[in-house]
Amino acid sequence: MKEFLLSLLDWIYKKKCYFCGCSHESVKMCSGCADTLEHLPVKVNRIISGRNVYCCGVYSKNIQKLIRGLKYHRQPELAYYLAKFMYEYHRKITESSSFEIVPVPLHANRLKKRKYNHMNLVAEELCRLSGCILNTDLVKRVKDTAAQYKLSKKERKKNLANAFEVDKSKFNGGKILLIDDICTTGATFEEIIGEFKKHNINDIVCLAATTPFGE
Ligand SMILES: [Zn+2]
Repeated sequence: MKEFLLSLLDWIYKKKCYFCGCSHESVKMCSGCADTLEHLPVKVNRIISGRNVYCCGVYSKNIQKLIRGLKYHRQPELAYYLAKFMYEYHRKITESSSFEIVPVPLHANRLKKRKYNHMNLVAEELCRLSGCILNTDLVKRVKDTAAQYKLSKKERKKNLANAFEVDKSKFNGGKILLIDDICTTGATFEEIIGEFKKHNINDIVCLAATTPFGE
């Protein structure tokens, strides 16, 4: 009887794939849906302030759903799948584990609303997979900026001016791997790179999960 009840509970609470709704694998992203995520060619997507920016994936329906679910729909378990996708891309560039992984920070006000910084979760998983060190203390978001998606390139730049601060006392001297979800105009990376440079931190690589401007 107890076994029956336990298997009934298993069945009721079986996880459904967030993308296709199937529950065969009892995971948030089934292998079939994970296979639909497609990497971009492994090459520099663009150079911002002299630093290489890599973008991992084709801007597809499922990667957008993955990012939105993680960011806006309280699906923190999806962080693992995004991290794995980014890790598989990044290890084709280097298998070095000597990076300090820095996720783009949220302002305290937004963090309060969202409960977590989705890129922190992704960074944690990425560190687990790669052996790199997580550094969430190095960069702070000091300006509560307006959402970027409605703004033009020029407006985004203005919106983000002086939005970040670097606390050099939290720097461990390694190479920085700055990670974000979507690289659109590159304004966020540009602003943070500028802050790093002010503090003479120059060994920086940027990695975004995806970009509307691939290949
Ligand atoms: Zn699925």
